[in-house]
Amino acid sequence: MGGPIRATIVGSLPRPGWLAVPGILQAPWKVPADDLPEALDDATRLAVESELAAGLDVVTDGEQRRRHYVWGFLDGIAAVDTAHLAMKPTRGQRFRTEAPVARLIGEPEWPGPMQVDALQHVRALTDRPVKVTLPGPMTLVDSLQDEVGRHSTADLAMVFADLLNREARALAEAGAAVVQFDEPCFNIYLEQARDWGVAALERASAGVGATTGVHICYGYGGSEVTDWKAINRDWSHYEQSLALVARTAIDQVSIETAAVGVDIGVIELLRGKDVLLGLVDVGRETAETPQQVADGLRRALDHVAPDRLFACTDCGLVLRSRAAAAAKMSALVAGAAIVNRELACSAC
Ligand code: ZN
Repeated sequence: MGGPIRATIVGSLPRPGWLAVPGILQAPWKVPADDLPEALDDATRLAVESELAAGLDVVTDGEQRRRHYVWGFLDGIAAVDTAHLAMKPTRGQRFRTEAPVARLIGEPEWPGPMQVDALQHVRALTDRPVKVTLPGPMTLVDSLQDEVGRHSTADLAMVFADLLNREARALAEAGAAVVQFDEPCFNIYLEQARDWGVAALERASAGVGATTGVHICYGYGGSEVTDWKAINRDWSHYEQSLALVARTAIDQVSIETAAVGVDIGVIELLRGKDVLLGLVDVGRETAETPQQVADGLRRALDHVAPDRLFACTDCGLVLRSRAAAAAKMSALVAGAAIVNRELACSAC
């Protein structure tokens, strides 16, 4: 085992059925509030154990503690209401006309480190490098209804970029190996990403003493998203979004290629950065084979150095069964091992 190509996941894993209803986003907790902290610790330990059992090189907490990847951050922010939601057109209405979003009802403030305790919990479970994920500022403001109206959308993204930056710096100081910002909106609002989204991302990641990453995808593996992917014919978005990110100091970029018609060659735009290549479809239960993963990695090696290449999922695995998630993680590790062996042999 070992070798230059490593394996990891975007972030989330399915939750145990005793914690939340499987297979749906934003599922409410099944556990009474008094028991929730212990239950979240236990679920996190199971998630990390499944990643270690698969053999991932970089692990996450499986995002077990958050009901949604944006609310996980917003829950702690003063003047944001994540309990009484509003309906808002989000994601350019690509997947549906409206979605439930949190409400901004005052001036947002960072209350001090929110995810550091959770990070320490994971670090106590493993010596492997740990990645923590945060929402990117553009995706965050898309998932928020501003009921104060003092800021333009771009200005509000900058306000939240500063709050995200403080959390990201605290996570890095506490030993996070990677801090990743999830910015699916970069593949939706192409003009705004150019005009202010990328500047907000740079502001969120500035001075963070860890490897910084951005995840840009075409959405989770729910039916609304998979239905859209089935009819969509334009997969050119990465040509613009990756070109923007390429000019930043962000160290690594996570993209989706398994479930969509994206040519792996688009990663040529990311020369010099780590590439987390999505080779596992998060929208279906059937696991990829190690050979399928290896095929994708071989194609990528025309455009990225092996020690900058990671076999990865397209997006979070939260909607899959635990068995499917385990099989898909194992396929990533086995596929990377195949190509690492080929690289070792070609060098000897
Ligand atoms: Zn994603």
